[in-house]
Amino acid sequence: MRKGIIVGNWKMNKTPSEAESFMKEMEAYLTGNEACDYGIGAPFVDLDRCVNNAKNLIVAAENCHFEDNGAFTGEVSVPMLKEVGVTYCIIGHSERRQMFAETDETVNKKLHKLFANGITPIMCCGETLETYEAGKTEEWVRGQIAAGLKDLTGEQVASMVIAYEPIWAIGTGKSATKEIAENTCAIVRDEVKKNFGADVAEKVRIQYGGSVKPENIKEYMAEKDIDGALIGGASLKVDSFKAIIDATK
Ligand code: 13P
Repeated sequence: MRKGIIVGNWKMNKTPSEAESFMKEMEAYLTGNEACDYGIGAPFVDLDRCVNNAKNLIVAAENCHFEDNGAFTGEVSVPMLKEVGVTYCIIGHSERRQMFAETDETVNKKLHKLFANGITPIMCCGETLETYEAGKTEEWVRGQIAAGLKDLTGEQVASMVIAYEPIWAIGTGKSATKEIAENTCAIVRDEVKKNFGADVAEKVRIQYGGSVKPENIKEYMAEKDIDGALIGGASLKVDSFKAIIDATK
């Protein structure tokens, strides 16, 4: 039985003081006995304050570099995240793939580096509207999974999280139906099975992301291959994140 995992992705939102207030309010609300894991992905400059105010919430970075250090102006390395106390890191978000030159190859390098440092990756995959409408979602997503997870061990893959986020559902208010979301999450699990075996596929946690909100989270979570959600807009306000938690208790 896989434990649910709901993670907010703040993207480029919240100053450190705003992040701290959110953490304090949320931690006052959580008991530590929740059936799911809950967490937030925060901008680099917020991470230290998030970690220092976290008791039950997972704190994730939203990106990292794959080298330990060096002449990479503006980048942040995995050892830096580790020292701050971050335990998860979102990798390969479609916004990074589309706007910041992330590729399956850099995603794979980052995953290897995170595992070497004991940080759990949340690897994102998902297709554009054009690919979806061309009926090529399965082929596209299978390719992203196989390339992103290349040369990892079954043990590593079993411990990580994969987020399926159709690009056409991100920030558009047009969420995928639960059937579409389940269908592609099942394809993701099948691709893991093909590459790493049935046991690993049974263990890996798969999230759906794309216009998830308090009103629809429950229907996604009821699906067999959906173990959680990666949530943008609806994770920014304490009230709506609390409502999501309430709906998944
Ligand atoms: P929205 O929930 O705002 O659609 O964003 C989804 C997302 O990109 C989470 O990573």
